[in-house]
Amino acid sequence: MNMMWDLPDFDGHEAVHFFHDVETGLSAIVALHSTHLGPGAGGTRFWHYENRTTAVTDALRLSRGMSFKNAMAGLPLGGGKAVILADRNRTKTPAMLAAFGRMIDSLAGRYVTAEDVGMTAADMVALTQETKFVSGLPVSDSSEAGGDPGPFTAMGVYLGVKAAVAHKLGRDSMEGVHVAIQGVGSVGGGLARLLAKDGAQLSIADINKNHAQSLASEIGATVVGLDDVMRIEADVFSPNALGAILDKVSIAHLNAPIVAGGANNQLATPEDGQRIFDRDILFAPDYVINSGGIISVGLEYLGDDDVNEVNRRISRIPERLTEIWEESAARTLPSAEVADNMARKLIGRS
Ligand code: NAD
Repeated sequence: MNMMWDLPDFDGHEAVHFFHDVETGLSAIVALHSTHLGPGAGGTRFWHYENRTTAVTDALRLSRGMSFKNAMAGLPLGGGKAVILADRNRTKTPAMLAAFGRMIDSLAGRYVTAEDVGMTAADMVALTQETKFVSGLPVSDSSEAGGDPGPFTAMGVYLGVKAAVAHKLGRDSMEGVHVAIQGVGSVGGGLARLLAKDGAQLSIADINKNHAQSLASEIGATVVGLDDVMRIEADVFSPNALGAILDKVSIAHLNAPIVAGGANNQLATPEDGQRIFDRDILFAPDYVINSGGIISVGLEYLGDDDVNEVNRRISRIPERLTEIWEESAARTLPSAEVADNMARKLIGRS
């Protein structure tokens, strides 16, 4: 029998919890990669998986990503992630959310959740009926940290894209810089709006064509095909949809000198970090560039809920990326590997 420990993405995870609620039929996995720096913090993904192994693999990869992300963001939080195995119709009921809240509560604070793909701030509020180990709750005034992490993530990605353009292309303005954005939801859409204000040239693609079209009309972007967005000639390719999109084939077809976007786990395998590096493409390690959201919900959960502190920490994302790129160049190592080494050291696993 293939055990979880044998899966290629198992990386010394401290615990992986498999839950099932008989009444609602809800199945969920909570993976805790490391609690070395604090409780395992990371959002819940609500997704229809083709099979259970894919769901476990996602939980393993995402929770490890959160360990690294929280450590690199300087937060006293470990890495955890939950996935809910949605049905084909993505049915989500109040009873299912209540059951999920009880599952989280049973972990007694070793795992703290927030939003991820398919989960909203309203869902987080629903979870608070059953557990206090929830962040990403709506805020009543804009001076507080927390709430939807998407805009904070988008801001961090925006600053990271600008840092990449400065580092690789030597340009300190985004005016006329061509950015191809894959996925224009909460993060990609926020990024597109910020870049549009700077006069960047934007090509966007989203499986939700109506949404892509209406955003394009609003900000003056061009909608391109789902396959084209990764292949068109651009200054930056920015992945902001789902993970594992950078593999042997897609990397060979990239036509941009920079890959910088908010999607989690963009590299399909560790070897793909080397492939990007070999093509002399500057890669922004995803868990460093997309840490704006966890900085916000993390500080909210830790009770340091001043939005100025959140913004101050997000504004340091570019210097962290630059440090990684400089070390990558100095040691001829892929930026993804440099970031992993830094993160491993921080969680006591070097
Ligand atoms: P979202 O659901 O709001 O947006 C994702 C968008 O991608 C949707 O508009 C969807 O239609 C589109 N999409 C899905 N598959 C696609 C495909 N194959 N091609 C093009 N578009 C596609 O989610 P989000 O919150 O914006 O998150 C996007 C990514 O960023 C995810 O990988 C998520 O894990 C990561 N992330 C999000 C946050 C956050 O704060 N929301 C933080 C860190 C990382």
